[in-house]
Amino acid sequence: MIKLETCPVCKNSSYSEYLECKDHFLTRETFQIVECSSCHFKFTNPRPEEENNAAYYKSQEYISHSNVKGGVLNSLYHKVRNYTIARKYKIVNRYSSGEKILDIGCGTGELLHHFKNKGWDTTGIEPDEGAGKFAVDNYHLQITDLDSLTSSGKYQFDVIMMWHVLEHVNQLDEYLQKIKSILHENGTFIVAVPNSNSWDARHYKSNWAAYDVPRHLYHFDQGSINNLMEQHMFKLEKTIPMKFDAYYISLLSEKYRTGKENFLKGFLNGFYSNSYACLNQKNYSSLIFIYKIK
Ligand SMILES: [Zn+2]
Repeated sequence: MIKLETCPVCKNSSYSEYLECKDHFLTRETFQIVECSSCHFKFTNPRPEEENNAAYYKSQEYISHSNVKGGVLNSLYHKVRNYTIARKYKIVNRYSSGEKILDIGCGTGELLHHFKNKGWDTTGIEPDEGAGKFAVDNYHLQITDLDSLTSSGKYQFDVIMMWHVLEHVNQLDEYLQKIKSILHENGTFIVAVPNSNSWDARHYKSNWAAYDVPRHLYHFDQGSINNLMEQHMFKLEKTIPMKFDAYYISLLSEKYRTGKENFLKGFLNGFYSNSYACLNQKNYSSLIFIYKIK
């Protein structure tokens, strides 16, 4: 385990315990989330060493969950996935222009495949080898890693997207600098993360599924992500809700809390979270942030 001595956002060295959370998804191990005394950023501390990360990711499940067809839940899953792909496509087109797009953490590649079909020049980054191979074999996507893109120096993307990925990145500052170096000066950086200041986060506390320790190293809210991006000279253009996440996260959190599925309660709390957010500074369960280079 590695213990961070300073806050990853403001570099202050004083923090206090915020919440003790279990890895509900895989190992059942317990992890601490701490809160920076200065900027109130919340982060998992200590965290597993980067070399041991694989132990906390379940590669096979990820792929089968994405692509095996059949069953009511799977069919629902695919309907929701198609809807979210179409919505993400619409958002990218509304807030950016250009033709070269990079999806960091592209998984099995469905979103990028959609962009490719619409004529975009697509590149993906995916650390999970199995998922990346699926994207190459099934959609003939180009999958690479960030270092290859930054070292070659010739890639200038018009759009770089990270859908629920930034909270997994080990070296935050270094990573954001590399991203900036391969983004066109008029390019768009689209980042979606869970919001630890949402109603569902506050309601479910240590059972909130989007804490997802230790895979999630950071637990952003609107203030902390914008602080971080400001330091890297990105300016915020727009904040957009991801309303589906409130339902999905509430359903999963309800299961973590009680040990069984409760669709009605999960649904009602998802609805409540969205209604609350609508009246309270857009504090939705998950948010999409659109940034441009300053
Ligand atoms: Zn801080």
